[in-house]
Amino acid sequence: MEYQEAIKQAAQLIKVHNGFYALTGAGMSTESGIPDFRSPGTGLWEKIDPIATSSAEVLHRNPKLFYEVGFTRFVNISRAEPNPGHYALAGLEDLGLMKGLVTQNIDGLHVRAGSKKVWEVHGHLRTGSCLGCKRRYPFAVLVQQVEQKSIPPLCEHCSSMLRPDVVLFGDQMPRLFFEARETLQKDCDLLLVAGSSLVVYPVADLPRLAKHLIIINLEPTAYDIEADVVIREKCGQALTELLSLLK
Ligand code: NAD
Ligand code: ZN
Repeated sequence: MEYQEAIKQAAQLIKVHNGFYALTGAGMSTESGIPDFRSPGTGLWEKIDPIATSSAEVLHRNPKLFYEVGFTRFVNISRAEPNPGHYALAGLEDLGLMKGLVTQNIDGLHVRAGSKKVWEVHGHLRTGSCLGCKRRYPFAVLVQQVEQKSIPPLCEHCSSMLRPDVVLFGDQMPRLFFEARETLQKDCDLLLVAGSSLVVYPVADLPRLAKHLIIINLEPTAYDIEADVVIREKCGQALTELLSLLK
């Protein structure tokens, strides 16, 4: 299907269903300068294996490696800015068309762009917490300690190690994920997936809960065959055009 035709069909589906839920992945934020994991040539996985430097196991067994190597990626992600795709989704929510957004991204850019009903199911980089007394700290406190070579960063109350509030490989999924899944199960006629390869479980199971599917992704995904519309374009452009068709 030609691109313009696909965008028109997506807009039509959104009107017919009186709105949609969104599911976003790392491809949503590549236009903000954050590498995704799986894009050919530029994907992070081809350069460093995040499991080897930033998994829950590494955090506990080798905090020095986690904070000296893996943590750098989190610091870079935390400094990015929203792009037109993030703003377009916030605009679609303002129009009353986007009912909620599930994101795998930890960059917090949907919240920064003004989206309100957001389930950040892999956590975010606004805060960290103490592994001992569970106190919350601004993420900047962790960054500051690491920059001052106080590695690992420690809680000022109980001296236990601090960790970023993100879901690391090997962590359990948070309550938020199950809440998002339940909402989709009850209420999702139409799901718009943007910038996800849909291979990371359990999030990759969520599209099954929707009756209809729109996919915006540069590369093919395993769900393309089940989708009503597939848009092979960058999220920034496709979502901006979708918003202007629906305004
Ligand atoms: P992924 O890397 O597996 O897939 C990203 C997909 O987006 C690819 O198929 C790619 O073709 C596509 N893509 C890249 N740029 C695009 C663009 N501008 N427009 C449209 N499509 C584009 O990402 P995933 O499915 O989210 O899984 C990766 C996991 O890694 C997630 O769990 C996520 O938590 C984490 N992650 C997060 C960030 C972030 O917070 N920004 C960055 C990297 C990885
Ligand atoms: Zn503590």
